[in-house]
Amino acid sequence: MARFTLPRDIYFGPGAMQELAVLGKTRKRAIVVTGGSSMQKSGALGRLDAILRGAGLEVAHFEGVEPDPSVETVMKGAAAMREFGPDVIVAIGGGSPIDAAKAMWVFYEHPEKTFEDIKEPFTMPHLREKAIFVAIPSTSGTATEVTAFSVITDYATKVKYPLADFEITPDVAIVDSDLAETMPPRLTAHTGLDALTHAIEAYVAALRSDFSDPLALKAIQMIDDDLVASYNGDTAARGRMHVAQCLAGMAFSNALLGITHSIAHKIGAQFGLPHGLCNAILQPFVIQFNRKACEARYADIARALGLPGATERQLVNVLVDKLCALNDSLDIPPTLEAAGVDRATFDAHLGFIAENAVKDPCTGANPRETTAEDIRKLLLAAYDATPAAVNW
Ligand code: FE
Repeated sequence: MARFTLPRDIYFGPGAMQELAVLGKTRKRAIVVTGGSSMQKSGALGRLDAILRGAGLEVAHFEGVEPDPSVETVMKGAAAMREFGPDVIVAIGGGSPIDAAKAMWVFYEHPEKTFEDIKEPFTMPHLREKAIFVAIPSTSGTATEVTAFSVITDYATKVKYPLADFEITPDVAIVDSDLAETMPPRLTAHTGLDALTHAIEAYVAALRSDFSDPLALKAIQMIDDDLVASYNGDTAARGRMHVAQCLAGMAFSNALLGITHSIAHKIGAQFGLPHGLCNAILQPFVIQFNRKACEARYADIARALGLPGATERQLVNVLVDKLCALNDSLDIPPTLEAAGVDRATFDAHLGFIAENAVKDPCTGANPRETTAEDIRKLLLAAYDATPAAVNW
């Protein structure tokens, strides 16, 4: 048996947030969870408040969720929810406040639980007895508004909890293109390339299915069409990227990811590089490695992009070149060395990163079986070589 789970409703397009007035029919109390001040400054928070209050809801706020949200913030938010008693949780902002609000939701409904109780994938208790969950993303990348995932950090023990369960897949996603218009160019490139990596990894992942494949392929095509224009400030392209990253999220929430993400999770923290940048640099190298297990799947992607090639081998070669060229047009450095990672730091952490990356939950879904030694070799290539150097 396999399962495919998505939010019940996805509202999209300019001004989609307005659709939340529908909550007035069934809900009485909303708690709005957000990050720093950007949603306030852009006016989005004020608009959200007016829509909810206008629909007759009583509204409370939990503000100040930090980037890489902490266990403490989650527990504080859950306590605020227990005090206010919301029947709908509305998370608005980048990935962090939405991820944090998902975890708050669990401890709001189940105060007896701890992070240790829910850290294993698919072990969460039943939710929706007290509240439903609405997610409104302001960046175009993580797609947490439609996924079963949330990442919370325990800063005391330096442990990241990658929570995973369809229980925390939101009930309603608002993919309002107005909110993505203000992303700065670098963030647009990094988050867009993260979304591209989600779609490519989902298309070849172990749990891919006939349900996830079309979403992944369509996302790849749209990102290919729109990411560069979006980076260069084209508003219509930004709106389409907001949809494309959501399609990619619908695919990978169900198909899962692969070792591009396993490695990116570890080097991002270690070398202080943005998540999407790490994925963008690693992906061509990982395709070179994985193609021995799934060349036909990558060739499908190349064909969907209209790339030339008479054989699968040629098609995948062209796909790798194309991804490198896309990185270049978005000012993404081709290697970790070019991204500013110094050799001594890299060498000192290489073994540790490889050992940890292989244990990442994403490794299990990778199409080719991967050892720590494979990851070590991949990283050495990604440090200062070209994808062609990966040929074992
Ligand atoms: Fe990602």
